Amino acid sequence: MRKFEDTYQHKGLRKKLVDLLRNKGITSELVLEAMYNIPRHFFLDSAFDKIAYEDRAFPIDAEQTISQPYTVAYQTQLLNIHRSEKVLEIGTGSAYQASVLAELGAWVFTIERQRKLFDNNKQFVFRTKYPNIKFFYGDGFEGLQSYAPFDKILITAAAPFVPPKLVQQLKPGGLMVLPVNDGDKQRMLRITKKDDDNYDEEWFDYFSFVPMLTGKNN
Ligand code: SAH
Repeated sequence: MRKFEDTYQHKGLRKKLVDLLRNKGITSELVLEAMYNIPRHFFLDSAFDKIAYEDRAFPIDAEQTISQPYTVAYQTQLLNIHRSEKVLEIGTGSAYQASVLAELGAWVFTIERQRKLFDNNKQFVFRTKYPNIKFFYGDGFEGLQSYAPFDKILITAAAPFVPPKLVQQLKPGGLMVLPVNDGDKQRMLRITKKDDDNYDEEWFDYFSFVPMLTGKNN
């Protein structure tokens, strides 16, 4: 089995990454601290060990990616996580983003539609550090009705529109952060739910995500 080591060198690179994120405009020290605490190289193939702390997305299995650290910091900051909040994440991928949310003290419910990625996470030893993450194999457009309502919802794939079932599963006053398709790119959107028929929208910067797809892939 792979041996996971977090060396002084890794910690040093992580410190530099956090400084870079601060320079790029991330202001939440809580988010930066959570990202400093998590060994991102554990979430990647060992071939990426030396470059795991570059501010880049990298390939994981099933032709998917681990998001760029700046994107993870940006989405997490917009969610304004408080301890013990219930957070639904769509697109578990490597589980790095889920771990950042868990490190901030949230109860995380994360859904992945790629069977291979879901199975990888079942075997990932580092996940035992976060008993506050629950993993689900399913279609994020459906959400998780039986665990609703959620304080916060995060979509980490490019959404074609605001998924109506996810709006329903958000608490009144709750926030959802998602990248919404706008030509070749996606624009970050934060919605604040008022009631079942109304929400406020705030639009932010442009990003590039893998697509949010319907159904499950076995
Ligand atoms: N949060 C991830 C980033 C993963 S990339 C991380 O930290 O590594 C986006 C992920 O969303 C991919 O793994 C993709 O398979 C998944 N995805 C796309 N559409 C989905 C859907 N409808 N439901 C659940 N997961 C979905």
